[in-house]
Amino acid sequence: AAVGVLVVRNKMMSSGKWSKVMDLLNEFEEKCGTPTSQLSQVAEAMRVEMDAGLAAEGGSKLKMLITYVDNLPTGDEKGLFYALDLGGTNFRVLRALLGGKEKGIVKRESEELSIPPHLMVGNSRALFDFMASALAKFIATEGEDIELPPGRQRELGFTFSFPIRQISIASGTLIKWSKGFSIEDTVGEDVVTKLTNAMGRIGLDVRVSALINDTVGTLAKGRYSNPDVIAAVILGTGTNAAYVERASAIPKLQDLLPKSGEMVINMEWGNFLSSHLPLTEYDQSLDADSLNPGEQIYEKLISGMYLGEIVRRVLYRMAKEAALFGDIVPPKLKIPFIIRSQDMSAMHHDMSSDLEVVDKRLKNILEITESSLKIRRLVVKVCDIVATRGARLAASGIFAIVKKLGRDAVEDGEKLQKSVIAVDGALFEHYTKFRNCLESTLQELLGEAYKNISVELSNDGSGIGAALLAASHSQYLDLEEP
Ligand code: BGC
Ligand code: MG
Repeated sequence: AAVGVLVVRNKMMSSGKWSKVMDLLNEFEEKCGTPTSQLSQVAEAMRVEMDAGLAAEGGSKLKMLITYVDNLPTGDEKGLFYALDLGGTNFRVLRALLGGKEKGIVKRESEELSIPPHLMVGNSRALFDFMASALAKFIATEGEDIELPPGRQRELGFTFSFPIRQISIASGTLIKWSKGFSIEDTVGEDVVTKLTNAMGRIGLDVRVSALINDTVGTLAKGRYSNPDVIAAVILGTGTNAAYVERASAIPKLQDLLPKSGEMVINMEWGNFLSSHLPLTEYDQSLDADSLNPGEQIYEKLISGMYLGEIVRRVLYRMAKEAALFGDIVPPKLKIPFIIRSQDMSAMHHDMSSDLEVVDKRLKNILEITESSLKIRRLVVKVCDIVATRGARLAASGIFAIVKKLGRDAVEDGEKLQKSVIAVDGALFEHYTKFRNCLESTLQELLGEAYKNISVELSNDGSGIGAALLAASHSQYLDLEEP
């Protein structure tokens, strides 16, 4: 009987407690607000920071990194090339047979491994050995049909999706880690040398021809399939953007003047910070408890690694201070990152009348065996606030790039050129409400100019894009027939 009483009491949460829940919810929603005017200020602040980052090394929170990619793929790329893709959650090895203008991408094979968590926070050697041995296995088991022209070395594009200070297309030192990675002895080191050494240790002879960021790969692959692509954005575990800038707008290039007159810039926009960002106490504590406090603040508001964790923090406070889930705080709710953005997305998209999906996730993840419809609705509402803020902020970043490139004009006499932003990442691909909100916000910001802009999903740039750039920087280019 005692147990029965407890259940009944939990179900009929006292109205005093529920009003405290509502207070917390309303306060959170208000602080997360992103009215159009504020988003314009965010975009303007980002544009100012873009200029500062282009002017001088270290001039801004936005690193605006020079990528040494001054030509994007043309379609002429030919031959067999490999790619290694170290992103946020997964690691991929890929092989692509490129057939030039007529044939395009003839063949593409890849293998994906999830990165063992201990390697993300271990030591440099273990991580690079892991990558080298995955590549060795991939090559050792390839079919007889895979053939390199005799006497040629295999070539690889290395997608390393963290901020890198490059000194050429195929070398660069790690500035800092982000997302779930923290391996001290890699910071400041050349990651291509690290990989080459690891391959050497197991007798694998592969040349790294290009070192790129995933945004740069996405831009390369995007441009390869569509000449109107001007920028690329990643919305996945982390977030970032790259775009094609005029060399004349990059004072810090100094005497390094690319023949094309252009240079791809890796913005590292995840590290953007502005007083216009709608930060709450939940964001502040998430940041303080993170592997990289004080850094990647924009990323922590937007990307897949963090959205579910913000939701957890809000629910936790409601459980603790307003007995949202009864008299005891569900112990699982105390575990950081236990609500993944996939869970959040599933709950947010629950269309059933009694929110069964929410109920199931609360049971399976948090071991909350009973939740009223009212509580489930509240959970959905929290997901909605967090996703909406993230998507709207991401849209304002895209708006900043479009404005920076002067692509926000409505008319200038002639027919305006189309501008396409290639986007990759699970958040954009699979979180429909996030994507829809991003697109409608961009429209809200651009007004009539939106008709010339489109945001398009572009899969696998970090794989194929790396192979394409390895091809255009191949050591055998001079040997190719004209
Ligand atoms: C990294 C970027 C990367 C982005 C998306 C961020 O955390 O700093 O280099 O492009 O994640 O993967
Ligand atoms: Mg990736």
